[in-house]
Amino acid sequence: MVFLPPFRAELACFSYNYIAAEDARLDRRMNKKSATPEVENASTVKPSRASVGRLSLYLRRLEMLHREGINKVSSRLLGEALGVTDAQVRKDLAYLGNLGHPGIGYAAPELIAAIRRILGIDRDWPTVLVGVGNLARALLRYQGFIERGFRFVALFDADPAKIGQTIEGLTVHALEAMPTVLATTKAELGVLTVPSQAAQSVAEALVAAGIRGVLNFTPQVLRLPADISVVSVDLTVQLEQLAFLVQLGGEEPSR
Ligand code: NAD
Repeated sequence: MVFLPPFRAELACFSYNYIAAEDARLDRRMNKKSATPEVENASTVKPSRASVGRLSLYLRRLEMLHREGINKVSSRLLGEALGVTDAQVRKDLAYLGNLGHPGIGYAAPELIAAIRRILGIDRDWPTVLVGVGNLARALLRYQGFIERGFRFVALFDADPAKIGQTIEGLTVHALEAMPTVLATTKAELGVLTVPSQAAQSVAEALVAAGIRGVLNFTPQVLRLPADISVVSVDLTVQLEQLAFLVQLGGEEPSR
């Protein structure tokens, strides 16, 4: 019996966050990133979606180690923590350029900065949310988004009773105000927490008002222009995965 390390399960779930991001979008993004001077030595081979997912997990782990005062990390240390081989870690990190120092490993601050840069989270992302219901209220209270640079700047809802209310320090606007509010706040990302049947039209309104990426919490599959990035999150799918893994009793599923 092969045991599935805890992070393997997390990796499997994480990959679901990428199902709506088309390969072409990722390709364009990685090509654009590799043109920056900081990563000009980066491998010309494009990372797979799984590698990009692992970069986020390496980042979390690295930041934790750095907070604990560990400034040099080996690929083995990173790999052990995440349940992947050190060869896989080196392969994933090779996309960032020649950051490893033979016999020493990686300098944590340097690696953190490089991963943040390639993931596009070395900057602030003003974000709006549409559909200020139960899920939205929980999301708005989470401090982790702001720590990662995802700052909610405006809220929208169709319910007249909610419009004008202040929720978690932000005013709820009518959908009609979207173009004006987005122009003022310069928001580029939109979080969609409306009922499924409203998702497509609201997503189109967000795009028309200038949003470039949509985090879709609704079960609706969105059809948006190719230059708009969509990531869909469905906790039900992840719970189903979890149930499946538990049912397997720790046995590794075939790839
Ligand atoms: P909710 O009913 O509490 O909130 C929905 C909000 O959207 C309400 O404030 C409503 O007034 C507003 N709304 C309705 N139509 C609108 C429109 N056309 N434009 C703007 N706002 C509109 O619902 P909830 O429980 O917060 O769930 C919200 C969405 O998230 C649903 O689609 C649900 O299926 C989904 N959801 C996803 C997950 C997940 O794991 N991804 C988990 C829970 C809920």
